[in-house]
Amino acid sequence: MKRKELEMTLQRVKAFDMPRADLEQYPTPATIASEMVFLAFANGDIEGKTVLDLGCGTGILCIGAALLGASRTIGVELDGNAIKTAKENADMLGVEIEFLKGDVSSFEGKVDTVVQNPPFGSQNRNADRPFLEKAMSSADVVYSLHMSETLDFLARYASERGFAVEFQKRFKFDIPHTFAFHRKSSRSFDVSLLCFRRCGDSL
Ligand code: SAH
Repeated sequence: MKRKELEMTLQRVKAFDMPRADLEQYPTPATIASEMVFLAFANGDIEGKTVLDLGCGTGILCIGAALLGASRTIGVELDGNAIKTAKENADMLGVEIEFLKGDVSSFEGKVDTVVQNPPFGSQNRNADRPFLEKAMSSADVVYSLHMSETLDFLARYASERGFAVEFQKRFKFDIPHTFAFHRKSSRSFDVSLLCFRRCGDSL
């Protein structure tokens, strides 16, 4: 599947029915999701691999991974409503995903690759921390979206855990007016995709 075709397919993924501000439920736009998963695919980190999506929401990243040939795909999500929509999305697009309801920290096991769009921390500061921690203890390679202003911190955080930032790519992440406290009709965040890879011995 070409990247453009993946993007068009992921445009069909339904977003949150009842988005929750406390969980920062902002779905990744199909343009960014397709590029993210495609870059991981091009690096050999998707096809035939076990891929974990932490905070999978309505599933756009794990579904993208499954469409590009992951051999096993797992999505972990706290919100049962989001999982329900994610299952409908996976069925609609004919892919099989194992959805686990729970906090990301409850995931146990080792996988090849993590793809994730953690909360950016706009509601609860450092909300992305448990995601990074779990991702880096579960896989040797992690593709993760973060606010660009936290890049210095992330590079330090990764190196303390034996990971290097293999590459990073900036995106404009548009968030339409979703919650009552949003004043503008849409807001754009400066976000970066980071690819963290473990240095030295694999898991
Ligand atoms: N991965 C999806 C959703 C991103 S929004 C996408 O790319 O579109 C962040 C998601 O993380 C939300 O679905 C939210 O419910 C979930 N989430 C937030 N905190 C969580 C936690 N501690 N454990 C599991 N899921 C969590």
